[in-house]
Amino acid sequence: MIPSDTLGWGIARNCIREVYEYGLRLKAEIGEDKVYDFSLGNPSVPAPPQVKEAILKALEDPTLHDYTVAPGRPSLRKAISDQLNARCGVNTEYTDIYVTCGASAAVTSSIRALTRIGEEVVALAPHYPEYPVFTRTAGGKFVVCSLRREDLQLDEAALEAVLTEKTAVVLVNSPNNPAGSVLTEDSLKRLAAVLHKAQERFGHPIYIVSDEPYRELEYDGKQVPSPISFYENTVVCYSYSKSLSLPGERIGYCAVSDRAAEREKVFASVAGAARSYGYVNPPSLMQRVIEACVDLKPDVSTYKENRDILCSILDEVKMPYIHPDGAFYLFIRCPIPDAKEFCEHARKYGLLLVPSNDFGITGYARAAYCVKGEMIRRSLPAFRSLAQEYGLC
Ligand code: PLP
Repeated sequence: MIPSDTLGWGIARNCIREVYEYGLRLKAEIGEDKVYDFSLGNPSVPAPPQVKEAILKALEDPTLHDYTVAPGRPSLRKAISDQLNARCGVNTEYTDIYVTCGASAAVTSSIRALTRIGEEVVALAPHYPEYPVFTRTAGGKFVVCSLRREDLQLDEAALEAVLTEKTAVVLVNSPNNPAGSVLTEDSLKRLAAVLHKAQERFGHPIYIVSDEPYRELEYDGKQVPSPISFYENTVVCYSYSKSLSLPGERIGYCAVSDRAAEREKVFASVAGAARSYGYVNPPSLMQRVIEACVDLKPDVSTYKENRDILCSILDEVKMPYIHPDGAFYLFIRCPIPDAKEFCEHARKYGLLLVPSNDFGITGYARAAYCVKGEMIRRSLPAFRSLAQEYGLC
């Protein structure tokens, strides 16, 4: 909801930040070693050394601190489109790429670009908790469509049931924050088929906005397909926050599919929406860095090790969870229906988990395992006490 009073934007808190800030207070009170903070998705592996090299090189450029053109430097946009084409089997041009201040700016600009006042934005849930804020800021109506509860894959009937003639956008996020689940090629093909039918029925395009900051964070050789490979009316929103561990540097992009029905108009609208939010241009230094590092693959071994330690702890205390294939999040199935109550109880043992209520699904708790492996190991007794409280072990 757009607030009616001038200072109303400050009222609704981000559920993740709330737990994180509680954790800071708790650490100051009882000591850091007694708190097991699984609240925040801040990458815990350093940026690759090539990033530092690229920064040092960029410092020699006397035009470094100038404004750049709003969509980003053409040479960077070309490098990104080449990488995306090779990764996803598409044929974008540099003119389809709009470089942004991270995925947040990409998603919020795409939603505003594609949604008219009163139109509907459907998010597949569990969903990133900022999507309702991004949608309402654009004057859209936020609609939740649950994935299948047993495996978090597409539930076609559920999607068909929420699509209306007012549907403008479907928001997809895989690998998923909060669950770490990955939508399979089969799910994405079924999604495309449902949307093709709906476009025909309603007589206008429905766009997928595919939020993909975790696209390169996958384990066990799991394939992470992107909707852009299967559905023409797609805008990909990417970020280097997670894959290159650069969340504070604010860099990512929107890519409009080369097969989009109104390709040039969509791009112009994304650019206009970004302008309306006052983005001007993404950080000039980071544009140069990404151009040099665009093909780097993240080393996911630390996150994979963390995931395996956490899974083995949960297995040991018999606490059920959804096995994650990507990103650095894991969804614990709460032994009671009220996730908030469960997470409150967890705090007694110093365990900081985020309840799933603001992710558009009930009954789960998110654990972000982009933390020190040693902290995860030390959390075993706390998880055991929590599991014992619910008679799980
Ligand atoms: N989308 C999802 C699903 C995320 O998890 C995040 C960050 O955690 C973002 C978007 C925002 O990322 P960025 O730092 O690139 O703005």
